[in-house]
Amino acid sequence: MTEDATTPEKDRPPLVALDRVSKYYGNIRALEGVSLEVGAGEITCVLGDNGAGKSTLIKIIAGLHQHDAGTFAIDGEETRLANPRAALDRGIATVYQDLAVVPLMPVWRNFFLGSEPVKGSGPLRRLDVGTMRETTRSELLRMGIDLRDVDQPIGTLSGGERQCVAIARAVHFGAKVLVLDLSDRHDVHAVGIGAAGWVDADRSTVLFAPHLAWRNEPLRDALSARLAVPVLVDNDANTAAWAEWRFGAGRGEDHLVMITLGTGIGGAILQDGQVKRGKYGVAGEFGHMQVVPGGHRCPCGNRGCWEQYSSGNALVREARELAAADSPVAHVLLDRVGGTIGDITGPLITELAREGDAMCVELFQDIGQWLGVGIANLAAALDPSCFVVGGGVSAADDLLIGPARDAFRRHLTGRGYRPEARIVKAELGPEAGMVGAADLARLVARRFRRANRRRVERHERYERYAQALRNPGTPRPSREV
Ligand SMILES: [Zn+2]
Repeated sequence: MTEDATTPEKDRPPLVALDRVSKYYGNIRALEGVSLEVGAGEITCVLGDNGAGKSTLIKIIAGLHQHDAGTFAIDGEETRLANPRAALDRGIATVYQDLAVVPLMPVWRNFFLGSEPVKGSGPLRRLDVGTMRETTRSELLRMGIDLRDVDQPIGTLSGGERQCVAIARAVHFGAKVLVLDLSDRHDVHAVGIGAAGWVDADRSTVLFAPHLAWRNEPLRDALSARLAVPVLVDNDANTAAWAEWRFGAGRGEDHLVMITLGTGIGGAILQDGQVKRGKYGVAGEFGHMQVVPGGHRCPCGNRGCWEQYSSGNALVREARELAAADSPVAHVLLDRVGGTIGDITGPLITELAREGDAMCVELFQDIGQWLGVGIANLAAALDPSCFVVGGGVSAADDLLIGPARDAFRRHLTGRGYRPEARIVKAELGPEAGMVGAADLARLVARRFRRANRRRVERHERYERYAQALRNPGTPRPSREV
């Protein structure tokens, strides 16, 4: 590297910088004017259809091809890589989907393939197996892969585990930039869906989806029939709660309640590592707890539901009412939408509140207070240790959570004589539902694999027993079929 470790992060040139890079084969344009930058600690994802030029781009960065136009700089220095070895020397390692491994050799042997450390000298020179085993184990552990047995053939690892071995290997040998070719051939072992609707207790049917044409929709079976892999279906708030508990703001909490503030209010309850779905699968619909008898009409048919007072819809409704009444406090907001009240949206109100507009800040305080009141009710019923607030409206952060915490403390039953639950903002953003669905699907796939393995083992035992009966001379295996 040309800079030393004391150079502040922001002043360092990007590790890799492409500026309008193009590649031609005769008059075929394989790549046209691609610019990108990757700095330390950053991930850049390149998406594209088949033939879009992703592999050409990867090959240029990996030193397999050279670009025909534009500039390619490494550590701020313009470069033309002669071959993959030159790329490796500059700290760029490429991990392909089809890894160059020897399937029958142990994991540690593959880890050091081509760069095996030796000990001793002369005729006593031999591979330093102990070091290789230990290094492989510890480098994989640093990536969160705990392989009990690094002596197993690498062919017995899953595709993802093999890719982790390759990444750990590249990092161990000094890679600063990793190019991962995930391609379109990633094995899919299971599919997870976080559905915006009520999902029944055995997680197969979407009973009702307010925004989709699903009524008693047998979603899981309909997809399983087409996909030939296990399919998991769950409510999207449940999957978001799962994600926050596994990877986000709720890590380490064994009693967690998730509240998602979007246009309405969704929610989920997680206890002792399990999502609590209720007898019929529809627990956690907190948005329709009645907080104001005879209050605002709710699309669910009732009046005074919590989500009519503390959600994106409530925020927009209040702002539009103030604007329609031509209240002097709404003039900034009205100016921003050119007088068209219908153009007032949640994100705009959030933006103005952040800029300090008094009316918008006040609207958030109102919403936040109602949020705190509802959370105090939930604490009375469920007594969790942590409330995670997610969903689009929670982007407003302390504008909302601050007032919610205050109101929660004022309304909590038995306050002063009980430990108070934490109220925290979700960490995974709008992807939480997707992350959780994928992780839950992973668990389903694992159960599926284990059950399959047990079935095969049972079958093999049965075969051995049947064979022993056919050949009475051989000793009988024990009869545990
Ligand atoms: Zn309602």
